[in-house]
Amino acid sequence: SVQRVVGVQLPRYARVNTLKTTVEDAVDYLKRDGFSYMGQASSLEDLTMKKKDFVQDMHLPEVLAFSPKTDFHDHFLYKAGHIILQDKASCLPAFLLNPPPGSHLIDACAAPGNKTSHLAAIMKNKGRLFAFDLDAKRLATMATLLLRAGVTCQQLANQDFLKVDPDSPQFKDVEYVLLDPSCSGSGMVCLRDDASPADQVQARLASLASFQLRCLNHGLRFPRLKRLVYSTCSIHSQENEDVVTACLQQNPGFRLVPLLAQWPERGLEPLTQCLRASTTKTRTHGFFVALLEKHSEAGNKRP
Ligand code: SAM
Repeated sequence: SVQRVVGVQLPRYARVNTLKTTVEDAVDYLKRDGFSYMGQASSLEDLTMKKKDFVQDMHLPEVLAFSPKTDFHDHFLYKAGHIILQDKASCLPAFLLNPPPGSHLIDACAAPGNKTSHLAAIMKNKGRLFAFDLDAKRLATMATLLLRAGVTCQQLANQDFLKVDPDSPQFKDVEYVLLDPSCSGSGMVCLRDDASPADQVQARLASLASFQLRCLNHGLRFPRLKRLVYSTCSIHSQENEDVVTACLQQNPGFRLVPLLAQWPERGLEPLTQCLRASTTKTRTHGFFVALLEKHSEAGNKRP
């Protein structure tokens, strides 16, 4: 069935790139440029703005929200890499993984690199960020994006993540993995009018889910791994909760970390540790995030 989501207008979100500026400086610049700063949002309603008003997000302090039609493509802050145009929900994975400066991590399916640049900002460009993507063209776009964003700790490789050897010496200190694999994109508001026959949709979902599970299992094979974040911009449980459930069954040494208690939308039962996002409950594109951590027999303390 064709379900057109007409009239859904999401805020224009921008993430402040802390490798280049601060939230305070970006806000000051925007105020001088004719925007009106309304402070930090405190409810979902505050994310609905008119004209030149903007707010700081209530969950992700480095995210600013503007009225839907705001166009930054010719704006200084965008062109200089001070802001990254990224949906609020897609800022969750790096924020939740929160790799400390100096850590070694892998961005498994990285292009065009919005989450990679967010990870680099959290690491303050210190440490090593191995980023893989199968698609050479998307990787080239990514190199440009990272340059503009001032990212210097990355090592890009045009490689199939499933063929990356977890036991290679160069990955011996990898403690964090961000996995944002190809998905149906069914959460993207603009793509939600797939008119394909139901059996074709199901076959595609099954094939995506099996790829996603293979990536997830592979990501957990890095010997020193502590935490892995899994995300999709899909609204289908086949690509989200079902993939995570299968993975946990196959990897009993890992468990889910309960995420952001204040976030209004959870993973489907029983995976309520995970987050979901949607136009109605979070005013973002549809999204899913899970955080898996290795549990040690002794202690079981979260870092
Ligand atoms: N994380 C990216 C960002 O935030 O900008 C978006 C990633 S996109 C959802 C998924 C990416 O996975 C695509 O760029 C695709 O080329 C890549 N990909 C698909 N299969 C892959 C594989 N086997 N190994 C590595 N990358 C793969």
